Amino acid sequence: MKHKLKMILRQVWARFLYHTGLHILLGKLMPQRLTILTSHCVTHKTNAFLPQDMKIEGRRLEALLDSFGKHYDWVSVGDGWSRLQSAQGRSMVALSMDDGYHDNLEALLPLLQKRGLSATVYLESRPLDGQSLNWTHKFFWLLARMDHKQLVERYLAHSQDPLAKQRLAEVLAAGGDLNYTLKKVLKYEADQADVEASLTAAFVEAGGDEPALCRELYLSWDDAKALHAGGVELGGHTVHHWVLSGLDAAGQQQEVSGGQQRLATQLEASRSFAYPFGRHWDWNQDSSDAVRSAGFATAATTHAGTNTRSTDPMRLSRWMIDDNTPMHLMATELCGGFELLRKFGLDLSE
Ligand SMILES: [Zn+2]
Repeated sequence: MKHKLKMILRQVWARFLYHTGLHILLGKLMPQRLTILTSHCVTHKTNAFLPQDMKIEGRRLEALLDSFGKHYDWVSVGDGWSRLQSAQGRSMVALSMDDGYHDNLEALLPLLQKRGLSATVYLESRPLDGQSLNWTHKFFWLLARMDHKQLVERYLAHSQDPLAKQRLAEVLAAGGDLNYTLKKVLKYEADQADVEASLTAAFVEAGGDEPALCRELYLSWDDAKALHAGGVELGGHTVHHWVLSGLDAAGQQQEVSGGQQRLATQLEASRSFAYPFGRHWDWNQDSSDAVRSAGFATAATTHAGTNTRSTDPMRLSRWMIDDNTPMHLMATELCGGFELLRKFGLDLSE
């Protein structure tokens, strides 16, 4: 009930600010902010099998760039954070894209270049290096060819992890939102090496070609260099895109600094980092320590909100958006409308 009331208040407040035009005035009155909108892909033939909530249509994105650009400066995350520290200029909005998908070069860059804008692409380094994908892509690729039940059956045929086998059998028997529960078990409960091995076996069995899929779906280092030359900031997002909190401190260090080293070797060391998956349970103090010691100035989460000078740079807020994210809610976050209520103890931003 409390959550429902919060959702109603959130809608009423955002619609009021947006449709009266007050969001423009409030945006000028509130202290300088950097709001980060984030996604993974611009809808493109290369990412057709990825879920809709990972993508945004090119035309929709253009509308956002043009509309929000009237009142705020579009910046990269790195530039935005520097400008916040110097307290210069108007409030800012940044677009970030996670992982390093191929469409970022073919579909995103032309939209940015047409407007002379920058963005930040956080790169997971292994796909750019080794023609190898993390398991989530094999999971989505398989789901484009079979239903959840068939996928679990194929998984169980290959898995050697008794705990995961037991949990997946329970999930199947319980029904409900299989997509959500399956991902949860695979991400947080199962042995990660077994998840990789089992999904790879199921993927190959179904005719999947990992290097070919990797080349189609992800950027190469040459592509990343072309993005960078086009004015896009490249950030760190680890080597393998594993859940950092599932690793010990040394393992986290390897993941974070390994990604930074690949950026430094191919291009230049980056100042911006994003935690894989980005929820607060996906990383911990060891992760932030690793991020700092690898030379990054900021680390971004996937918790919605806006950022000010006083935001902890190791936990920048970012809002995961897709084609269904309403304009009035985004406009309210950007103008500081949710931030204002937070000052009065009312948090409606997520
Ligand atoms: Zn990611």
